[in-house]
Amino acid sequence: MERIGAHSHIRGLGLDDSLEPRQVAQGMVGQVKARKAAGVILQMIKEGKIAGRAILMAGPPGTGKTAIAMGMAQALGKDIPFTMIAASEIFSLEMSKTEALTQAFRRSIGVRIKEEAEIIEGEVVEVQIDRSITGGNKTGKITLKTTDMETIFELGHKMIDVLNKEKRPEKSLNWVDRLLEPGITMRWTRFVQCPEGELQKRKEVVHTVSLHEIDVINSRTQGFLALFSGDTGEIKPEIRDQINTKVTEWREEGKAEIIPGVLFIDEVHMLDIECFSYLNRALEDERAPVVIMASNRGITRIRGTKYKSPHGIPIDLLDRLLIISTIPYDDNSIKQILTIRCQEEDVTMTDEARDILTKIGMETSLRYSIHLITAAHLVAKRRKASSVDVVDIRRVYRLFLDEKRSVNYLREFQEQYMFNEVPVEMEGVE
Ligand code: ATP
Repeated sequence: MERIGAHSHIRGLGLDDSLEPRQVAQGMVGQVKARKAAGVILQMIKEGKIAGRAILMAGPPGTGKTAIAMGMAQALGKDIPFTMIAASEIFSLEMSKTEALTQAFRRSIGVRIKEEAEIIEGEVVEVQIDRSITGGNKTGKITLKTTDMETIFELGHKMIDVLNKEKRPEKSLNWVDRLLEPGITMRWTRFVQCPEGELQKRKEVVHTVSLHEIDVINSRTQGFLALFSGDTGEIKPEIRDQINTKVTEWREEGKAEIIPGVLFIDEVHMLDIECFSYLNRALEDERAPVVIMASNRGITRIRGTKYKSPHGIPIDLLDRLLIISTIPYDDNSIKQILTIRCQEEDVTMTDEARDILTKIGMETSLRYSIHLITAAHLVAKRRKASSVDVVDIRRVYRLFLDEKRSVNYLREFQEQYMFNEVPVEMEGVE
């Protein structure tokens, strides 16, 4: 069963080749300026030009900040790490706030390890050999999966034969030695002429793992099983130092490449002053990912202080950010988003019903109107109708309150609630 999430209709940023946003594409609607800005950032990330930049997406609730971040993640593809956290996730009893942030940072930095085949005695072995053949770009590949050292030995001989034909015997000895030595890592890029039929299109063998995954695997107290349980605990700074040194070595030897990815911190105003100070510092590291933050707050208190600041972010950090703002939608965009959501949820809706729902969306919120789709669909099904009509929308609109009506209701009946401490004359509900 495929579940439908809040952003499952988003498949990218919906930009054309020149980074211009199409009005409706890849599940994205309107919000053109912000999408275009996100596209520019995306291009810079893809080209590996920026590390340690921080971007703030600021705008009222439900204006697509998270949707745009999801679109960026989709457009980046699997090879560039994208981590998404809500700022409140970093407060836990298991680890300190800065440790949680460090883990989030390191999860967002990829290490692309190039073409390696490892022979470990007693384990499955995969050997990959690539060679450019007679000037062409074709590549031969032998894949050998075996635990049997004799087979490995045989393969060694096969290679020697080919090498002898190529009159490069001096290399061949080297190979066999290496083949028979268990536990070694081999990187071959130009070797034997493979038998016909095994020629394949060139396929680079690269693995991208995150720095955090390398930390966890090498942390003796945790071990790699922690990767599955997610129960990684705190990782010692010495381990991280060792990993950093190792990865730098790999990079210098041409074995690995560092891929700064993206860390998305939603509800960033929930971070406190210590976390902001950590961010200021962490963004200066050459390995830092691009950090995208989102906030729907106006001028509010910076957590952990008594000072107020825009979005609850200290001014010195704000000064480092590139700010993308999102604006409320017009009725046309709301209608298009609702249409896409109906398709995503496999719901047929009459034009009149969609018009009413759009109006509701304009007067309440986009999220509320999106939620009504599922509920109205259920109601329509109960009356055995094939499409959602105005009556169904009316019904669910009465059944479920939006935020404004709920507040009005509270105001009206607050006397009857328990522990009601809000003075009657107080405006707003915070
Ligand atoms: P908040 O500040 O409350 O977190 P937000 O700005 O992150 O809000 P989203 O969660 O991105 O808002 O948007 C609310 C819903 O509307 C989501 O289901 C989202 O996928 C959808 N949505 C928002 N903007 C767009 C858009 N431009 N195109 C398509 N769908 C959108």
